Amino acid sequence: VKSWRSAAARRLRSFAKRTSVESAIVEIGHLLTGSQHSPPIDLKTIFPLLNVREAIADPDLLTAGELRLVGDEYIIAFTPSDSGVRQRFTIAHELGHVVFERTGPHCPRRGHELEQLCDLIASEILIPQRLLYQQAKSPISIAQVTKLAKLFDVSITSMAVKCAQCYPLAIAQIDFGELSWCMSGISQFYRPRAEFKGLVEKISQKRNGTELVEMKLQKEPISMIADWQKTGPDRSICLLRKTD
Ligand SMILES: [Zn+2]
Repeated sequence: VKSWRSAAARRLRSFAKRTSVESAIVEIGHLLTGSQHSPPIDLKTIFPLLNVREAIADPDLLTAGELRLVGDEYIIAFTPSDSGVRQRFTIAHELGHVVFERTGPHCPRRGHELEQLCDLIASEILIPQRLLYQQAKSPISIAQVTKLAKLFDVSITSMAVKCAQCYPLAIAQIDFGELSWCMSGISQFYRPRAEFKGLVEKISQKRNGTELVEMKLQKEPISMIADWQKTGPDRSICLLRKTD
């Protein structure tokens, strides 16, 4: 579990009346999406709850999205040339900023942790944990993640990240034949970097595939299944899960 240090994190915990940032985000997600019972989440339904008038396409934006205060209402601007799932994530991220605006005066508007928190709020808005648990079927393979991504109208990467937070999985992204990043929901002791590094060559050669991997978790040998899929011309997502 990450240790949060910023004022933004403290503010979020007290706003949601939760002791951990993670449960604060689930609570805020529930306040915003609780009335929606099946994916995909309709973002427009959330707008009136946060005093957001509309989301508008602005081709001149220099960033993916921007929050504007007009009178006493918010307008979210997004880049229209981005893909549909990217636009949805951007709008949900800006809704995260609006949540902070509503936590009281002197709200934080920049900072690395603030941006991370807005990404986590976006992820919980687009993929509420309770709906994910209802819809996901084990095993959480890359095929299942792809199916869920379509269902929730999010990118495969966003869905893989969410699944690694909610299930005992590890995921990695490989760009141009190199390991870009990996994260693990398996155990705090488990660092899957070496296993993923050992797979990078295979992943780069094949569009998609499955491989049995032997690894050690606290010195105990366990076998894992790695499966991966291309998500862009030079990008793949790889998942590691325990054998069933
Ligand atoms: Zn932001």
